[in-house]
Amino acid sequence: MTTATQPSVSFPPQALLIDGEWRAASTGAVYSVYAPATGDLLAELPLGTPDDVDAAVAAARFQFETGEWSRLSGAERGKILWRLADLIESDLEGLARLEALDVGRPFGEAFFGEIPLAAETFRHFAGWADKVTGSTYSLPPFGGDRLSYTIRQPLGVVGAILPWNAPTMIASWKIAPALAAGNTLVIKPAAEASLTTLRLAELALEAGLPAGVLNVVTGSGAVVGDAMVGHPDIAKITFTGSTAVGKRIAAQAGPALKKVTLELGGKSPQIVWPDADLDSVVPTAAFSVFANQGQTCASGSRIYVHRSILDEFLSRLKTHAESIVVGDPLGDGTQMGSLISQKQLDSVLGYIATAREEGATLLTGGSRIGDTGYFVQPTVFVGTNDLTIAREEIFGPVGTVVPFDDDDEALLLANGSDFGLTAVLWTNDSARINRFTRELQVGVVWVNAWGPPHPALPWLGVKASGVGEELGLEGLLANTRVKTVNVISA
Ligand code: NAD
Repeated sequence: MTTATQPSVSFPPQALLIDGEWRAASTGAVYSVYAPATGDLLAELPLGTPDDVDAAVAAARFQFETGEWSRLSGAERGKILWRLADLIESDLEGLARLEALDVGRPFGEAFFGEIPLAAETFRHFAGWADKVTGSTYSLPPFGGDRLSYTIRQPLGVVGAILPWNAPTMIASWKIAPALAAGNTLVIKPAAEASLTTLRLAELALEAGLPAGVLNVVTGSGAVVGDAMVGHPDIAKITFTGSTAVGKRIAAQAGPALKKVTLELGGKSPQIVWPDADLDSVVPTAAFSVFANQGQTCASGSRIYVHRSILDEFLSRLKTHAESIVVGDPLGDGTQMGSLISQKQLDSVLGYIATAREEGATLLTGGSRIGDTGYFVQPTVFVGTNDLTIAREEIFGPVGTVVPFDDDDEALLLANGSDFGLTAVLWTNDSARINRFTRELQVGVVWVNAWGPPHPALPWLGVKASGVGEELGLEGLLANTRVKTVNVISA
C-alpha cells in the first residue's frame, strides 16, 4: 500500500473543521480512504462522533446568533463567496486531480466540468447575497394607517449531507446558497469521498469566512449523519443521496418539524425520435449514460428509441460505447474511470447478471475490466420497461434501450417509473416538445442536449427523486424563512 503524493494534488488537512480549527475526532478514531482506481491509501480521516456534531453545531449556532457572519451585510458576504470562487479557480488542477483520485472519475470531467461549476455556483450566489428581499403590500387601514411587508431571514444552522459521486459540485450547491442567505453550516461529506469538501473548507477560510461559519464533520452516515438529522439546533437538513436514506431522513425530520431538501436518486428517460440527428444524439446520449461511470443522478439510463430507427441507433450506440477509453482517472484521454468501491462494483455486476437472467439482450459490454480497481465496461442492454435494470437506479455504466411505436406509448414508458428527476428529448418537433415537457413527470427537461445543472436554474426531482428545490432563486429561498410584519400608525 502506498500513499499518493503527487505534488499537483491539493490534499487538505486530514481533520474535522470545527470553529475554524482542524481537529481530531473526539475519540481520536480514524478511518482509511483508498483511491478506488488503484487501492492506494489516500488519507486517514477522523471518524466523527455525535460529540463532534454537537461541537460543530454549537460553533455554527454561536456564529449565527452572535458572530460576525449574521451581522455582515449581504454585500460583504457576497465578496467572501466571490473570493472563494476565485480560489477554487486558481486551484482548479489540484482540486480536479484530488477529485479524480478520491472518486475515480476522469480528471477531464472534474477539470472541465465539476470544479468550474462549483466556482460558478459560488459566484452565482455571491450575486444573490445582497438581494434577499421581501415584499410590501397595499392593504386597507387596520385601526390606523397600515404598512405590511415581509422580510426574508436566514434559517440558522443548516446541516448538509453529501453523496460521494460529485462531492465538490454538490458541496457548492449546498454551501453557496446557505451562506449567501446568511446561514451557518455543518457539513458531512460521504465517507468514501470527503477530501475535496475538506479542501473547499480550507479555501473558504482562506477567502475570509469567519471561524465557525462552515464546519465539516467526516465519518459515517449512521453516526454523524444521524446525529445531525436528530440535532435540535439544526434548522434544516439539505441532503443529496439515495432515495432509501432520504426517506429515513424525512421520517426522522418530520416529528422534529425540521425543514428538509432532499435531492435523491433517478432513473431518467431519454426519448429519441426519427427526426433527430443521430450524429449528435448518440455521443451525448451515451455520455449521459456513462459520465462518471454512470454514477450520476441524472444519468439517462432508460433510452426509448422509435422503432423505425432502432437498428441504426443500436449499431451507432454499440460502436460508440466500444470506443470509450476506460482506465486510469488521471490518464490522458481517459473517458471512464473506476466505480467508487467494491460494494458499488458488486451491485452493478449484480444488476448485469439480473438483466441476463430476465432475458434482456446484451448489445455491448457486461463485464468487469481487470482485477485492480472497480472498472466496468460501458454496457447496453435492449429490452422492456419491466426489466429490473429499467426500473431501479443502478448508478453504474449500464443503459437499457426500449423501442416505442408512437408518442402515447413513449410518454407512458417514460413516466412509468418511480423516479422523476430529469428527461431528455431528442427531436426538433415543437408540438411534441411542448407536449412532452408539460406531461413528463420530472423536475428538469433537456431538449437536444444533456449536461450538468447550471447554478442559475432550479434543480429538483419529483416522485422518488426528491422534495424541494436546490439552485436558482428557489434554492436560495429554500435557505430562508419569511416573516410578515404589520405596522399600524395610529
Ligand atoms: P447514500 O444515501 O448512501 O449516502 C448519502 C449521504 O448520506 C452520505 O454522506 C452518507 O454517509 C449519509 N447517510 C447514510 N446513512 C445515513 C443516515 N442514516 N442518516 C443520515 N445520513 C446518512 O448515497 P450515495 O451512495 O452517497 O450517493 C448516491 C445516491 O445519491 C444516488 O441515489 C444518486 O442518484 C443520489 N444523488 C442524487 C443527486 C440529485 O441531485 N438528485 C445528485 C447526486 C447523487
